[in-house]
Amino acid sequence: MTTGLPSYDEAAALVRSRASEVLNRPHLVDSVTIAAAYGRVLAQSLRADRNMPAFPRSTRDGFACRAAEAASHEPLTVAGSIRAGDPPVGPLPQNSVWEIMTGAAVPEGADAVVMLEHVENLEGKIRLATDRTLDPGENVVPEGAEAQTGDEIASPGTRLTAAHIAAAASCGYGAINVFVKPRVAILTTGDELVAVTENPAAGQIRNSNAAMLASLVSAAGGDPWLLPTTKDEAGAIESAIKEALWADMALISGGVSAGKFDLVEPALARFGAHVHFTGVRIQPGKPLVYCEIPRSAGAKFVQVFGLPGNPISSAATFLLFAVQILAALSGSREVSPRFALARLTRDVKGKPDLTRFIPSACMFHPFSGAPLEVAPVNWQGSGDLAAFARSNCFLAVPEGTTLIPAGELVRIVFF
Ligand code: AMP
Ligand code: MG
Repeated sequence: MTTGLPSYDEAAALVRSRASEVLNRPHLVDSVTIAAAYGRVLAQSLRADRNMPAFPRSTRDGFACRAAEAASHEPLTVAGSIRAGDPPVGPLPQNSVWEIMTGAAVPEGADAVVMLEHVENLEGKIRLATDRTLDPGENVVPEGAEAQTGDEIASPGTRLTAAHIAAAASCGYGAINVFVKPRVAILTTGDELVAVTENPAAGQIRNSNAAMLASLVSAAGGDPWLLPTTKDEAGAIESAIKEALWADMALISGGVSAGKFDLVEPALARFGAHVHFTGVRIQPGKPLVYCEIPRSAGAKFVQVFGLPGNPISSAATFLLFAVQILAALSGSREVSPRFALARLTRDVKGKPDLTRFIPSACMFHPFSGAPLEVAPVNWQGSGDLAAFARSNCFLAVPEGTTLIPAGELVRIVFF
């Protein structure tokens, strides 16, 4: 039954609005060395500590010159030589050039750099090759053209990539203020579960969600905290949830469907959960539960997701919903989930009353310049981990779509 359940868009909008509220709460700040800052979320502005570049910089090996003089194709005297790291030289005498290496300061008076490959060498002089032209400003980055002293290079809430790390390093940041990673309790429930290192008896399965969710949480910038697996027994589930509520966020896997031993929802209710939804019109992942539970005096709420136990359902619901709240708890202002468009290479069927998220393989085409292509993998339902391992994204088929023919652009979300 899907009557009364929110659609994917409705549930996603609700989670987004909770995420924006969570994001605007104060977050704890930590200082990390630049070497440990990759993937962390900025808690400060990164600012240029000087003009970038701090001197007019040559982007080529060649000769610093006055473009107008060089463009006359007359021989010009080589007045000196400067290499990267040398203190600035100059001024450049009339009808002269200064030999210069990439990264060196362009001498005062010069307004361009002619590439080594574009000149003819005469005795102690050079001349611009007859088939070449040179305009003022060529191969020179003026002082401060990239950023001026005090300019913001990255703002708080930015998740640091290699590009930010490089910019921070060039601005002299040895340590960076970042937000403390939110702690995410991972609680797996189910009588059938055994540890990864155990040999499952007939009817049992290994607990794959614990490791999978921990990796999803880490990738999304959280600090995973694995709790012991819990049996489908009301008292055990209740004490485990009590423990999980020490975290900023709790992911509870399994026990949220309509079965006789699905005991998570009633347990959450006993903690005074403020329930946002218990089910979404999506497939897989329909039984997803999202609630907030007051901690101690009620000043702070723990963000709780009850994820359906089937691994692909757990992963999909994490990536579509929980990830938004996790990003907000981590102080990140980046949009999540990040959908991309890819061209479908096979027909896919939709459902009248559910948005489908089909595990799919997106092909990258190095060098070809072709758009991304995507095809669903063959799968035996949301417990099919072998199929999941052949996929790298989910493909969205909006509710009410009968069929999307091959060749159409579709939305995908990578994991
Ligand atoms: P549930 O949501 O508890 O009804 O579980 C749905 C399906 O997911 C069942 O087939 C379970 O065996 C499977 N499942 C539940 N928890 C896990 C887990 N931690 N790892 C792998 N599979 C699970
Ligand atoms: Mg179960």
